[in-house]
Amino acid sequence: MRFTFDALPTRVVFGAGCFARLAEEVDRLDAKRVLLVGTRGRAKLLQRAKELLGDRMAGTFDEAVVHVPAEVAERARAVIKAAGADSIVTIGGGSAIGVAKAVAFTTSLPIVAVPTTYSGSEVTPIWGLTQGGVKETRRDSRVQPRTVIYDPELTLNLPVPVSAASGMNAIAHCVEAMYAPDANPITTLMAEEGIRSLGSALPAVVDAPEEINARTRALYGAWLGGTVLGTVQMGLHHKLCHTLGGSFDLPHAETHAVLLPYTAEYNAPAAVDAMSRIAGALGVSHAPVGLFELGRRLGTPRSLAELGMREEDLDRAAKIAVERPYPNPRSVTREGVLSLLRRAFEGVQEKSTRR
Ligand code: NAD
Repeated sequence: MRFTFDALPTRVVFGAGCFARLAEEVDRLDAKRVLLVGTRGRAKLLQRAKELLGDRMAGTFDEAVVHVPAEVAERARAVIKAAGADSIVTIGGGSAIGVAKAVAFTTSLPIVAVPTTYSGSEVTPIWGLTQGGVKETRRDSRVQPRTVIYDPELTLNLPVPVSAASGMNAIAHCVEAMYAPDANPITTLMAEEGIRSLGSALPAVVDAPEEINARTRALYGAWLGGTVLGTVQMGLHHKLCHTLGGSFDLPHAETHAVLLPYTAEYNAPAAVDAMSRIAGALGVSHAPVGLFELGRRLGTPRSLAELGMREEDLDRAAKIAVERPYPNPRSVTREGVLSLLRRAFEGVQEKSTRR
């Protein structure tokens, strides 16, 4: 056994009700002037944060949107400068956290992240910026949040369709970590546990969205998923989702949910051990089918066509996805990717397994 393990440095505070510790966690960083970053949709939560932070508040930026358009990041930087902030507290999903990271990249300000979805962005040094219609993803330790407060109570009103798709996004991080070239025994344990936890929690979340135990187990799985996403290299699945989101404007989490069984099916012959452990964590005999059945149980979208992908764009998507090499257990060819995309476009697995 040989491996290199660069453990991520984020402090994690986890548990129902721990949002109440926000001010204490900000004080631990010696921060005195906080800029709050979020979206208008989370107005009530931002208000609660302001009350908790009291005179530590320096300003608020609530215009975060998905995929971090460069002009939004620029506006957030102007607000932070005017406020003279020395730290950022970001509350919300990957979109809010993304804007906070874009600002941290140029200002090196520490981030305290309070996630309300299962995207996992809060524990990674990965950040994206969209300029001229192209989303570029980068990696830099300056954007790695210093502290994450995981309070499952904040996810109780996350709508079921968003919870389901976002949960499949977190499972996708774990699945690709299982066959990553730089995986190590710890990331594999985390990924397996993440799949196990999310695989059992998400159906319960869909059945009873306000049940705190299921929400807690789902958020725990999301933390594990985000941690492995930030630690090891992702493969074909993430590359395809990035391509379809960045160049064809498909919704982030839902695209993960549709593609995951198809990318698993593609990689299965070249990742036999990983697939058998994924199947074990899901409690099924065949990983791609198990992932597919899970998506159906959760009611996530069934095909790329349903997400608005155009058939005539599949070939261009396959071309973009193979332009630059990246690690993947099975070799990535344009024909292979095109065939995978066609299957996902048509929802072939749905048709073949419909009862
Ligand atoms: P999101 O942040 O856009 O949130 C999804 C939806 O849920 C939004 O409509 C939001 O308003 C709503 N929402 C969030 N919390 C809620 C709550 N508690 N109650 C009710 N509604 C709530 O989506 P996301 O999937 O979390 O993040 C997607 C973005 O994050 C993409 O830009 C993606 O590229 C990025 N991302 C980055 C990383 C990384 O490591 N850098 C990882 C995963 C995702």
